Amino acid sequence: MALPGQDVEHIFAEIVERARAMDPANARKWFDQLAVLHFDGGSIRIGCPDEANVHFLDQNSRSTFTRAAQQVTGHLVTVEFIVGGAEPGAAPHDIESGLSLHPDYTFENFVVGPSNRLAHASCVAVSQSPGQTYNPLFLYGSAGLGKTHLLHAVCHDVRRRNRGAAIQLLSCEDFVNRFIRAIEQGTISSFHNQFRTVDALVIDDVQFLREREQSQEEFFHTFNALYNNGKQIILSADSPPAEIPSLEARLTSRLNWGLVARIDPPSYETRIAIVQNKAHLRGLSISDDVAEYIARQVQANIRELEGALTTIYALATTTGEPVTLELAQRALEGQIRLAARRVTITDIIDVVTRHFDVRITDLQSKRRSQSVTMPRQVCMYLARQMTRHSLEEIGGHLGGRDHTTVMHACNKIAEEKDADPKMQALLTELSKQITLSSPM
Ligand code: ADP
Ligand code: MG
Repeated sequence: MALPGQDVEHIFAEIVERARAMDPANARKWFDQLAVLHFDGGSIRIGCPDEANVHFLDQNSRSTFTRAAQQVTGHLVTVEFIVGGAEPGAAPHDIESGLSLHPDYTFENFVVGPSNRLAHASCVAVSQSPGQTYNPLFLYGSAGLGKTHLLHAVCHDVRRRNRGAAIQLLSCEDFVNRFIRAIEQGTISSFHNQFRTVDALVIDDVQFLREREQSQEEFFHTFNALYNNGKQIILSADSPPAEIPSLEARLTSRLNWGLVARIDPPSYETRIAIVQNKAHLRGLSISDDVAEYIARQVQANIRELEGALTTIYALATTTGEPVTLELAQRALEGQIRLAARRVTITDIIDVVTRHFDVRITDLQSKRRSQSVTMPRQVCMYLARQMTRHSLEEIGGHLGGRDHTTVMHACNKIAEEKDADPKMQALLTELSKQITLSSPM
């Protein structure tokens, strides 16, 4: 089915609008820059400004766009995101680097205040001349204060200045897992190659190295190889090097060689600016009184500031009301009450085993029959949604499964939930029971 260009533009605009409304949490202002590159009724190829946008959409918005396209066109449409502009034959703006950066996590989108000024300034300095100012650069602070954001911002900036720069950015958990896999598969020399030959190595959450002696040893040699060649090393953690438990002394001392910058919780003024910045990023307008209200309610964690914003706008979308201070209060009061109930994995396992009439030992066993696999995957999905445990910890509660198994389970259930209203209803019902069963 060929459509005239104008119609295609029009339909596409409607799809984007619907996708925004369906999932306000992942709606972004830069969706305006998306373009239809190909549309034949059964499939739609969407051009994005660069790789980071493609990655974001693949991770967060594929099913939303698929559903939106289905609703707008009335039939099944497969959605594909690629790098490319609207002009026919336009060259991609970026080459595939294997680097998965979050498009929001740039210096432009980072609000600087007294709590993060040093960390921000040192990241800017390092991205301007990698390997030459502070090496290593070590950022630390509690969860949700912007460490990952700054690490991505450095990578965005280094790549913008030098497209050819070889950068590895990964979580420490990933580093450890890839190292273990390399040992198992006998591919350690290609592992060395991957990490010891880069221009910049950026590792997030290095507290994950604690008690992992062999990984510490590997990291130590990686560090030395890069450092001796003047290559940049940037690390983040939840505490300063000396306070990471059972980290070898020779490693601790190296982590202190460069600059160690602390990030503190943001002040009230900075929180207001961040809320306004996040609203702007999503293309939302926000009044001062609502921004101030959110900044007063949520103090310790910036991720939760964003969550509050999402909750408020989701309520406004579902009820069709304007975002007023009164609506914001209504939206957050419910959320604050919910946050007070702390759901544990045990609560989740209890409800799920009762519902499916299976035993907890079945969930933890190696059995792979559908009657056990499905409840097990549902547990993993709900634990991911309702608790703050890592993939690894969730796997630990369910028979010592590794983080990739848990991630796979979460994706599978999320897909089923999108495709099947029965699964959606089941998950809603289970979450309700779990919330009610956990103590206030
Ligand atoms: P951490 O890695 O320290 O746990 P993140 O970098 O994941 O924290 O930040 C959590 C969220 O808060 C992210 O969405 C990030 O964009 C946002 N954020 C943190 N600090 C700032 C800031 N100064 N300005 C804008 N957004 C911020
Ligand atoms: Mg982080």
